[in-house]
Formats: sequence, structure tokens, C-alpha cells
Amino acid sequence: SKESGRGRWTAYHPQMDEERETRNQMALDLRAAIDNEDIQVVYQPVVDSSTFELVSVEALARWNRPGHGPVSPDVFIPIAEASGLIDRLGLDVLRQSLMQLAEWPGLKLSVNVSPGQFRDPAFAGHVADLFYVTGIDPHRVVLEMTETYFIQNPERARTVLERLRKIGVQIALDDFGSGFSSVGYLRQFGFDRMKIDKSLVQSLGDGHRAVEMLQATVALARSLDVPVTAEGVETDQQAVNLRLAGCDQLQGYLFGRPCSPADIDALRLRPMDL
Ligand code: C2E
Ligand code: CA
Ligand code: CA
Ligand code: CA
Repeated sequence: SKESGRGRWTAYHPQMDEERETRNQMALDLRAAIDNEDIQVVYQPVVDSSTFELVSVEALARWNRPGHGPVSPDVFIPIAEASGLIDRLGLDVLRQSLMQLAEWPGLKLSVNVSPGQFRDPAFAGHVADLFYVTGIDPHRVVLEMTETYFIQNPERARTVLERLRKIGVQIALDDFGSGFSSVGYLRQFGFDRMKIDKSLVQSLGDGHRAVEMLQATVALARSLDVPVTAEGVETDQQAVNLRLAGCDQLQGYLFGRPCSPADIDALRLRPMDL
């Protein structure tokens, strides 16, 4: 009864004020962490599905809250959204990871973008500035977004997408297969890549209907000529099925957990043998 969607109250409960207080305190601590540059970025390997070569990394935010320990991004990202901190947090992650990418020639980078950032009219301009100051080629970078904002505000979303495309950055649809994506809307936005949601990947093994669902989802993307990355790959069997279904890139614990830049350095020197 606590929450229905993320952080959305449905009915009054006596503990409500207390929980709100806890969230307010967390937002204050999060603001301090952003001010003090305490938000860290880890990088998860993304590999080519046929050679298993490292081709890209996804930047993921990490926050070690003083006195509490690590807080999951599934908790602090919604709080950043609700408290107006997401613009700064998102740009901080982008800045840190672009600087890091300068040390990894040949690799590509994915960075997550929240709907709240998309709503900021200055967003595309800030992105352009960060490419300018870091000197990174925008074609090496993919911004990952979920469908929420595209469905809620398609007109505005299209305008921002056009600006980002002019910069040269690519756009991926994240969590594909977990929502309501129709062919019409996928075509309309012309995404550069789709990322199959890990819930769909991990349903593989629940019977042959799951394989068919997955094949249909990948086929939908490929019918639009859009390359597909699968996330949440944990087993060899999943990797095989996903490659056969037509995914050109794989990401998941099977290939590596999100890790420090030093761990990515090591992977680049010694390609993974599976
Ligand atoms: P996401 O963008 O869908 O990222 C993939 C999540 O799946 C990551 O969780 C990753 O650690 C996890 N994952 C990867 N491979 C596996 C696997 O094989 N098995 C399992 N069980 N999980 C796997 P994480 O890092 O906890 O991030 C959760 C979500 O928080 C992300 O989901 C993304 O929506 C959001 N997030 C993280 N960092 C940022 C950020 O810098 N900006 C924004 N806007 N959102 C972020
Ligand atoms: Ca993502
Ligand atoms: Ca996802
Ligand atoms: Ca997600």
C-alpha cells in the first residue's frame, strides 16, 4: 500500500508524513552529494554478440550515502526527478563519463537520460557544451531514454530529438519490450538503437512462449532496421538465444557487472574469454 508507481502516493496513511520526511532528508543529502561531486559513475561492458569483444560501456550512477551506505539508483533517480535535482545529476554523469571516454579510444558510451532532463529546454544546449569542452566525437555516444516522455509529450520530444541529432549523438530506446511500444511510434521517432529490457531476457527459460515473445520483439526492431542490444544477460543459453534472435550487442552479468574505470582498462587489455 506504500506506493503504486514510483513515489506516487495513492491514499493517506499515518506513516505518510514520516516517509515524506525520510524522502526529504534523502533529497537534501543527494543535493549535497551533487554539490560535493560525490556521485560516482561505474561502467558496464557491452559486447558484440558474435565475437564477445568489448564494444561499448553503459555509464551508471552510484551514490554512497554517508551514514547509510550505497543507495540504489532505482531509489535515488526518482528522488532526483521529484526534487528537481535530475538536471544537474544527469549532466554530472554525462560530464564524468565523457571525460572517461577520452581515455578509451575505440569504445562507445551509453548514458541514461531521464524524462525530467528532456523537459529542460536548455538540455540539448548543455549536451552540446559538454561535447565541446571534452572534445569527444558525439557519434561515439548513445543517450538512452525510456518511452514515458515520448508517449506523454510526442511533439516536444520530437523537437528535442532533432536538436540532439544535429549534435550527432545517437538515441536509444531503453527498456524496450516492457511497455506498449507500437510500430507507428517506433517509426515516428526513428531511434538509432533499441535495448531489450532485462525482464524479457530473463523470462527466457520460462517456456517456449518466452522465446517467441523475444523473437517477435527483436524482429519488430529489425523490421525498422534498428540494431538491438539485450541487457540483463546472465547465462550462456540466454546469450545464444539473443544472438540467434538478431541482437548484435549483449550486456549483462555474464560479461561483466558495472565496474570501475580501472576494471574496464583491464578488459580492454585482456579481452574476455568465455
Ligand atoms: P537501466 O538503464 O535499465 O540499467 C540497467 C540496470 O540493470 C542496471 O542497474 C544494471 O546494473 C542492471 N543489470 C545489468 N546487467 C544485469 C544482469 O545481468 N542482471 C541483473 N539482475 N541486472 C543487471 P542499476 O545500475 O541499479 O540502475 C538501475 C536503473 O537506474 C537504470 O536502469 C536506469 O534506469 C537508472 N539509472 C542508473 N544510472 C542512471 C543515470 O546516470 N541517469 C539516469 N537518468 N538513470 C540512471
Ligand atoms: Ca539504460
Ligand atoms: Ca533497461
Ligand atoms: Ca530502467
